[in-house]
Order: sequence, then structure tokens, then C-alpha cells
Amino acid sequence: SKGIYKFKYLILQAIQNVFQYTSIFEKMRFKDTDFEGGFVTGEAPEFPIVIEENFAFYNVNLNDGLMTGIFLDQKEVRKKLRDQFASNNKVLNLFSYTGAFSVISAPIAEQTTSVDLANRSRSLTEENFGLNSIDPKPQYIYVMDTFDFYSYAERHQLLYDTIVIDPPSFARNKKKTFSVMKDYDKLIDGALNILAPQGTLLLCTNNSAYSLKSFKNTVKKTLEDADVDYDIVEVMGLPKDFKTHPHYKPSKYLKAIFVQVK
Ligand code: SAH
Repeated sequence: SKGIYKFKYLILQAIQNVFQYTSIFEKMRFKDTDFEGGFVTGEAPEFPIVIEENFAFYNVNLNDGLMTGIFLDQKEVRKKLRDQFASNNKVLNLFSYTGAFSVISAPIAEQTTSVDLANRSRSLTEENFGLNSIDPKPQYIYVMDTFDFYSYAERHQLLYDTIVIDPPSFARNKKKTFSVMKDYDKLIDGALNILAPQGTLLLCTNNSAYSLKSFKNTVKKTLEDADVDYDIVEVMGLPKDFKTHPHYKPSKYLKAIFVQVK
């Protein structure tokens, strides 16, 4: 942010003192005519580089906009999904980006399905599968709007045991705009139509303005309005190494709720 950027050189020095690093990159979440962001110091590596997390591998690109290929803040949620909700399941991953939730599930799932509107998501997801020697056959990838996929899946009577919903806070598609705070109920309703009996929903949002309390309320109200019998089996947030400030609630921006339908 613009505020913390004033301390860039102090922070850089601290990082250099503490970490053994190969290279340092910066990401700028504000526009400035004098700075562009990107490579700072060290060796300029060739991208993508491969990272390992919970025995899975992912491509990372630090030189291509704000998104790097993987959202590290979801590492514990990915692990939970694999350890408890993916085994022998049909896993549907909506807003799948580079397919991280599919990659972690695929080795033990019956099949995975990744859905993302962006063209690039297909090759990025295939490459991540390749890195992990995952059999591509039972992994389906659709470059499609989530709501269009809901209609498609209903038309084809597809059902999924575990549905992951991890959307951006705002999205614009040709026809409409979507906001998690306004429209999460529609995402849940669509998922319920294609959820197998006793299925699991993993519902996430990283919108800092959306409090855990009101997110939970939306989840509960939507499920109750749909006459669904359910348990909230797990509520997760940021991992410990993502520092938050006790007096600034929005710093705890990540919310992930596992819902078990009965
Ligand atoms: N869940 C991902 C991160 C999501 S990033 C992960 O675990 O890594 C948000 C993604 O949503 C982007 O890849 C974007 O292309 C996709 N997206 C935005 N609007 C969409 C829509 N209407 N339908 C499907 N995907 C959408």
C-alpha cells in the first residue's frame, strides 16, 4: 500500500537481515508514476518457479501482476480439504484459478472439476496437475462462468460430493456484476442443486469488509431457506504466520466454512 511503501528500504533491510533469500520481488497495490514494482534485488529467476506445500507442488510466477499462481493464505484450508473431504469424492472447484484446490484433492479424489472464467486457467491448471504427476483423465476443466456452469451441470445431471467456492470479492462478466457480499446466497443455492446427498460445501471469502459473523449468517440463512439439514463442521481463517492486528478486525480477512449436509 502507499502508506507502507514509505518504509520500503527499512523493510527491505530487515528482510535481508533475517532471511536467506535468492531474490526479492515487490507487489504494489497502488498506482504511482515513479514506481512500477517487480524485481527488487538478488538473482532474477526464470518463471515459473515451483514451490512445495503439504507435499504438493505448484507453479509460481512473481512477475505477472498481483496474483502469483497460488494463494498461500489458503494453505491450511487446502490441507483440511485433502485430509477430510476429498477422499474418493467428486470434487468441484469453482473460481478455480490455477486449480490449487483441485491439485490437492486429485491424488485421492475420484475426480476433480475445475471451473474458471479466465482462458489462462486451463493451461495453468493442467501444468499444476503435470507437476504432481496427476492422471489428467479424471480431471475436468471448464473455462466457464460459475452460474453458467450451474445450469450446464443441472442440465447434464452432474452431482458433486464436495463443492469448493472461493470467489473474488467482485467479478464482472459480460452480462452482470457479482459481489460476494450481495450474491453469496446465489452461489450457495446454485451449489445445492448439484450437491450429492450428504455432500460437503467449502465456502470461502477473502473480502475484509465481510465479517465472519455476517458471512456465517448468510450461509445459515441460505441453507435454512433452502430447507437443508446441515452442520457447520469447521470454520477456518488465516494461518498463524499471516499476522493480523487485534485492533483492526478487517486484517483477519479470510473466512472458510465447511458445511456438511445431512
Ligand atoms: N480459488 C482460487 C482463487 C480464485 S481467484 C484458488 O484457490 O487459487 C478468482 C478467480 O475467479 C480468477 O481466476 C477469475 O478468473 C475467476 N472468476 C471471476 N469471475 C468468475 C465467474 N463469474 N465464474 C468463474 N470464475 C470467475
